[in-house]
Amino acid sequence: MREPQVRLVRLADGVQVPCLGQGTWHMGEDPTRRDSEIDSLRTGIALGMTLIDTAEMYGDGASETLVGEAIQGLREQVTLVTKVLPSHAGRREVAAACEASLRRLGVQRIDVLLLHWRGSTPLAETVEAFEKLRAEGLIGAWGVSNFDVDDLEELAEIAPLGHCVTNQVLFNLGYRGIEFDLLPACAHAGMPIMAYSPVGQGGAMLRTPALVAVSARHGCTPAQAALAWTLRIPGVLAIPKAGSVAHVRENAEAAAIALTEEDLDELDRAFPPPRSKRPLAML
Ligand code: NDP
Repeated sequence: MREPQVRLVRLADGVQVPCLGQGTWHMGEDPTRRDSEIDSLRTGIALGMTLIDTAEMYGDGASETLVGEAIQGLREQVTLVTKVLPSHAGRREVAAACEASLRRLGVQRIDVLLLHWRGSTPLAETVEAFEKLRAEGLIGAWGVSNFDVDDLEELAEIAPLGHCVTNQVLFNLGYRGIEFDLLPACAHAGMPIMAYSPVGQGGAMLRTPALVAVSARHGCTPAQAALAWTLRIPGVLAIPKAGSVAHVRENAEAAAIALTEEDLDELDRAFPPPRSKRPLAML
């Protein structure tokens, strides 16, 4: 059997998922890009990027609807991750939000449902609602997003270890704050980080001379080098969003790039690692 190109990462409940998935923020919002976005997601699945991240918030459900269309006939291959808004984190609202997401996605079950970020609803109430959905089989697992170390400590008082399967946070060369404390804390708890905006939203980060130099040494693009930098850490999975087939192919290839000590030192000089606690950055 052929080895999968995309390495697998274990969620905190032991379920294995590819370390490279696909983000979908802003997908489904521009009708002229729809076909290309669906092609991209389907290409990504064929290349092993079978974890797809969406949210009820994205395009007010338009992203979930597009994902539902893209995965038609492929449901069994895909790990579907979506998120509830903090304004829907109450007992009744979580259930209603999940039902609406299931409908837009056109599936019977969401694999991982995340709380998008913390709001004013007591965590215990959201956890109870998530656990109920899990018991009912409407979700396979639940997790959180944009949770800092203190949030996770509070969560650990409420939910048994392994029940919160991942924490989705901003992590790329330009935002390394989590390396100081959140990343080690998650590793200790056996909970992988799902890195969002891993290619810096295709912006200035990709034009940084150090990243350009490293990518030139590997004959790859800066986006691929940025992804390889993120993926080298065990317990980290990345969910780049690519709305074109060319970008998705490029991103899939990044899983095979191994950066050297020289590369990592050069990147550390250009993007210094944190030396003290930084508040968790979020977009
Ligand atoms: P990304 O870092 O994934 O960047 C996406 C942008 O980069 C798009 O404009 C895309 O262009 C471009 N791009 C993708 N691949 C390449 C490439 N190989 N070369 C050059 N440009 C490229 O940013 P996102 O903010 O979208 O983050 C990824 C995902 O994480 C989101 O889509 C979403 O699912 C999730 N997320 C979660 C958040 C949370 O609070 N939990 C917050 C933010 C994001 P194109 O589309 O034209 O291919």
